[in-house]
Formats: sequence, structure tokens, C-alpha cells
Amino acid sequence: MKEIEKIDKDYVLHTYARNYVNFKKGKNATLYDDTNKDYIDFTSGIGVVSVGHGNQRVAQRIFEQVSNLTHTSNLYAIEPQALLAKKIKELSSYDVRTFFANSGAEANEAAIKIARTYGEQNFEKKRYKIITLENSFHGRTITTVKATGQSSFHQSKFAPYPEGFSFNAIDDIYNSIDDETVAVMIELVQGEGGVYPFPKDKIEELAKFLKANKILLIIDEVQTGVYRTGEFLASNLYDIEPDIITLAKGLGGGVPIGAVLTIHKDIWGAGDHGSTFGGNYLVTSAGLEVLDILENYKDSGKLDETIIYFTKKLDELYEKNRDIFLAHVGLGLMRGLRVKDADTLASLIKIAFEEGVMVLKSGNNTLRFLPVLTIFKSEIDEGFVRLQAAIDKIKA
Ligand SMILES: *Cc1c(COP(=O)(O)O)cnc(C)c1O
Repeated sequence: MKEIEKIDKDYVLHTYARNYVNFKKGKNATLYDDTNKDYIDFTSGIGVVSVGHGNQRVAQRIFEQVSNLTHTSNLYAIEPQALLAKKIKELSSYDVRTFFANSGAEANEAAIKIARTYGEQNFEKKRYKIITLENSFHGRTITTVKATGQSSFHQSKFAPYPEGFSFNAIDDIYNSIDDETVAVMIELVQGEGGVYPFPKDKIEELAKFLKANKILLIIDEVQTGVYRTGEFLASNLYDIEPDIITLAKGLGGGVPIGAVLTIHKDIWGAGDHGSTFGGNYLVTSAGLEVLDILENYKDSGKLDETIIYFTKKLDELYEKNRDIFLAHVGLGLMRGLRVKDADTLASLIKIAFEEGVMVLKSGNNTLRFLPVLTIFKSEIDEGFVRLQAAIDKIKA
């Protein structure tokens, strides 16, 4: 490992506060490092490895696909891309068409471009402003950084930023709308902003108001989408019809893919947007296999069972350690425990890793859990035993 650490530090730009561990293999929610130590993964690569590490069905599908074709470009029809768009439409329960990008930020960029297009096509005076929520996170490109509702992300070294973005508390959105506002973009559960789900009535009231005022509702489901909250889309849990939805993290089971879905199916024509890699054979065939696995997993009742079991174990951990945890929050398999202070949170994540269980931070004070959706009961049990051991060490 020391050798890899040195090479990494010498040649890779230092943008991450990295843990120096060298993972060699994975099986579902368990990872093994180069000393064969095992770790229970409650992070799934930040919500990406939805169907588990080393998933043999996804591996086989990718292998078969790339043995024939990996990429031809979007100048030609791509069979798995067309089939994946059809599948997404069916599972979403909305009447949408999809554009494929390569990441969450890129999907959000496309969403913003759709909104601005709509703002030009549908109003005498062009509308272009987009309101987001405080503590939101929408990506790292220059525009999505600006769309992110956390001033700490708007660093002066990257300035100037594109115009037309502001952020607000959910109740204050109504007052910040003006005659140039074209869209409101929100997460239904803020992933990076502290695992914060918004009350159902507030979301539905906002959606109704926006629809009545011809302002678009963009739901960033990059983290909440693809069964993370128990439904294919978190939007499906609310009585709303978003204009635009973005997906990425869990959709490819580990391959880089992003998607923007919109009910404004004819908003764009040839040449209006594009991507070299977007939706190529490799990633869309992986996406098809992932959705096939997860649709069956959901329909068989196993996803709900896993959610109930994981939540029960997390609740037990929470109740047992009320001296360090302040609240248990989240939806489905996107959950958080508020920790009493930032130092305790940091040492808990570090010691948990040493004990062989991987957990995430969200916001300043939230311990975040984004387990593999197909995590086994035995992995859940072992993960929580290790987490309690880490907590015991902290308290000692
Ligand atoms: C991760 C995330 C993004 C950014 O996705 P990338 O693939 O890293 O560009 C955007 N929005 C939300 C809600 C996310 O969780």
C-alpha cells in the first residue's frame, strides 16, 4: 500500500482527503483489501454500486456487450440506449423521454439547458433564473457548483460564475420567484446536505404552485433515484409530476452514466445538445441489467424487506447510543444519524473504518448510510456489530 500511496500522491491531483487502503475485490456489500482484511460497505461507493460489488450478472452483461461493441457514437442508433430509455419511462410512471449523460453534474447541466430552452420558447420575455434550496448539492461543474445552495462551494477562485442562480429555504421560494424565474430545482432528500427529507405536504404544495404558474419543477434524483428510497424514483412517493428529473449514481451499478428525463418530450431537436460518450453500449447495457435486477428485487418484496431490516438495526444502534446521536433521519436505504458534534463524527468514521465498516459523512454533523440495495442480512448484522464496537471505543 505504501507504494501506491506514494504514486498516488506524486501523480494524482490532490482534490480528495483520501484513505489509503488498496481494495482488491468485492462481493455484494463486502470489500477486501490487499491484506485480505474485510470491510462491510455501508457506502456503496456513495450510492453507486446499487446491486453490489462484483455483481456477476452486470459483469457478464458488460463482458458480452464490450466483446462485440463498446461505442459507435450517437450519430447512430444504439439499441441498449433505446431500450434503457424505454425501461426508465416505464419504471418512472411519468410520460418522459431521456437524454443520456455521463454523470450527475452533467445530467443537471442538461436539465438547466432544458429549463432555459423552455424559458425562451414559452414566454414573451425570456425566463432563465433557477432557484435551488439551501444546503442542496447539484455537482461540481462551474454551473452546477453555482446551482448548489451552499455558499462555501461558491469559491472566489472559480469565479465568475454563470448568472441566474439563487438559493433559498423551501418556504421562501414563493417570494423569490420573479418574472424571469423559469424553474425550481430540488432534491427530495438532500444527500450531501445532511440527509434531509422534506415534508410531503410542502413538496406537493410547492409542485402545485409551480405548475399553476408555469414554472418548471426539476427534481435532482442523482442520489435518491433508482430505488434508493424504496421506489424507482423518490418522486413516486409524492403526488407530483416533475417537469425534469435527473439520475446518475445508482443507475449503472458502477459505470459512469447520467440521465435527464423530461415530460417536455419535444423541447429539443437535432444538434441542441449532445455527448460523445453519453449512453454508449457499455453503460446502457449495464444500466439495463441493473434495472432488471432491481425491478425483480422490488417486485419480489426483497427491497422492502431489506429496508425494514436495515432501518430496524439502525434504530437499535440509535436508541442504544442516544448520548452521541441526536436523531435518526432519512428514507429507504438513504439514512442518517445526527451526531452530537463534528469531532465525534470524524473519529467515529475513522475508527469504524479500522473496525471494518465503511460509513459516510453528510453535512457537518450527519453520519450517512447508503448501503448496497442488495445487502444481505448477515452483512447488515456484521456491519452494525462493528459500528457498535467503534462507538464503544470512542466512549471508552
Ligand atoms: C452526487 C450528486 C451530484 C453530482 O453527481 P456527479 O456524478 O458527481 O457529477 C448531483 N446531485 C446530487 C443530488 C448528488 O448526490
